[in-house]
Formats: sequence, C-alpha cells, structure tokens
Amino acid sequence: MNRNLHIVLRNALEARKWKIEDLAFMLKRPYKQVEEVYCGRQSLTPTMVKELAQVFPDTTEQYWWDLELQRKAPTYNPDTVPDVKRRAQLYDWLPIGPVMALGWLSSFHTVDELETSVCQFLGIEKIGDTPTFLMGFEGTPPNDLIFRHTWAKKVEQEVLKQRVINKFDWGKFSVEVKTILRHATELDIHRVQYEMLRLGIAYTHVEDIGDTGIDGALVYVEKRPAIALTMRTRHLDWYWYTLTHLLAHLLLDHKECHIDTNPGNEEHDRLANETVGHWLPSANYLAECIHKSASGCLSKEALRKIANKFGISVNLVAGRIKYLRQTGQLPPEPSYSTYHIKIGNEIL
Ligand SMILES: [Zn+2]
Repeated sequence: MNRNLHIVLRNALEARKWKIEDLAFMLKRPYKQVEEVYCGRQSLTPTMVKELAQVFPDTTEQYWWDLELQRKAPTYNPDTVPDVKRRAQLYDWLPIGPVMALGWLSSFHTVDELETSVCQFLGIEKIGDTPTFLMGFEGTPPNDLIFRHTWAKKVEQEVLKQRVINKFDWGKFSVEVKTILRHATELDIHRVQYEMLRLGIAYTHVEDIGDTGIDGALVYVEKRPAIALTMRTRHLDWYWYTLTHLLAHLLLDHKECHIDTNPGNEEHDRLANETVGHWLPSANYLAECIHKSASGCLSKEALRKIANKFGISVNLVAGRIKYLRQTGQLPPEPSYSTYHIKIGNEIL
C-alpha cells in the first residue's frame, strides 16, 4: 500500500471537510475507483495526477507524480481535463456534497448548470462576485466559514418564504412573549410557530451543516425579525432553551443579527441569559429543589411542579438545568434529570 499517497490524500480531504464522494464528484469518476486510489489499492493514472493538481491548487502534478513513483513509474502522458478545475473551484464557494445531500441545490447535469445553481444559492450573478449575508459575514470564498455562510444563506431563503400574520410590534411582543413560553410543551411546536407568526416573527429551522456548532440565530430579513434554529442537539429541552434565549435577544431589542453557538460569551448573550433568568427558575431555586429531593435527582414529576409554579413548560425547566450545569452555575454531578426527549420528525 502506498501509505504516503493515502496519508496525503486523507489529510487533504480532512482539511477541507471533503469526503471521498466529493472528490469523486469533482473528478467525474466512479466512487469505487477514487476509493481504490485513496486506499492505495490502485495506482494514480497520468490523467488523475493532472486532475489532483487541479483539485488541490497548492500542489503540482510533479508532487502527485512523486508520490505515485514510490510504487511504480508509468509513462507520463498528461491529458487535458476540462471541467475538473471548475468543479473543484466551486467547492470553494459551497460545500456541494452536503448541500446536495440536504436537497438544497437545484438539479444540474453539466458543470455550467452546477455553477448556475451555486450562484443562485449564494445570490450572486457569477462566481467571483462577493455574496452578501444578512448575518453580517464578510469575506469572499474560499474561507473557513463556508459552512456557516451556507447555513446563513439557507436561513435567509427559508425566512423569505414565511408569511407572518401581523406586522412585528415590539410593545405587543414584550407583553405577549410569555404566551409563547407557556406553549413550550413537547407537542406544541406548531402552536409556538403560530404564536410567533401572529406576533410578526418569522420562524424556521435549518439543519446544522458541517458541524458549525450553531444552535440558532436571530436575523432581520427585510426589517422583520426571524428566528432560526438548527435542532443541533435534537433534544426538546435544548430546543426550548435556545428559542427562549433568542426571544430574549429580541426583547432586549438587539437590532443586529445574532448567531448563537454553544458556548456563547458575548455581552449580548450575557444580557439575554440574564433576561431568560427572569422568566425561568434561578440556579439557587433549582439547587434548593434538588437539595430537598430525597434522591438528589429531580423526577419528571418534580420538574412538572416547578414548571407549573413558573407557568412554563417542563422542557424549559430541563433545558434551564442543562444550561446551568454547562455554565458551571450548578455542579455537573449528579445528573439532576433524565428528562431528555428526542425531537422526532413528526413534530417538526
Ligand atoms: Zn445569544
């Protein structure tokens, strides 16, 4: 096995978060063939040497050739390889493999059509133009933020499809925000969405792509607020806590788009969490409840009692405990609650 070639290829793919199928797509070659080369079971052909130098512009044909020569030295007779360079370059603009897997890209058959799809997705006329992002990202691809940019663009697209019922009115929202929290039971996600649209807030959930660690974002699209969640943890308690945190940003009248990752540590996040703290049980109160319980662990029934006392969902209490443990405001052990409800597709 040609270990050097394998290691070089593996590192090159990992650095870009590409998979073997992504490389196969760029090279327009069968997955199996590329996998054989990747694993060192098949030698590089002269054409592939040229293609790899185009896919990885920081390398040369000679570089790949030297790796291959460790095994044997076939006659080098480079072909011209149209399209490969263009296909590879498009990966600098959009993580095409994951985006296709999620069905976010319109269909294409040729590299021209693929380029058009990528431009449409990014809202640019041609590759080379600078995409603009409502979430305030800057910089032209290639850059390290490509997955975040992709997520942000998808959020913009989804939010623009939403039809809010009323115009957003901050005064009305500040009075009625707790109505949303009251609906935060495991079966009422749709009800919450309705309440948000009624208050003029667009809502969407968009899958986390490329492990960005994004929990959600508050974004202003055409001057109206919108909340987007990733459902990254797939747990209801975290879902509600993130939603509550983003509502707090809106209540605090944070006018700039705001992305939440875990853990967040900006000043705005601190203020939002402080606001959430006014709606939800405090660390001291929860510590007292835990202390009083015979087992040192809050049962579902105990969580329900706390939820009723504060007029909020039991999911929010569980999410609050998780947050306080993660931020060191409650000790990490023992595990206070086993209240982890997986978010199923049926309620999304
Ligand atoms: Zn935040």
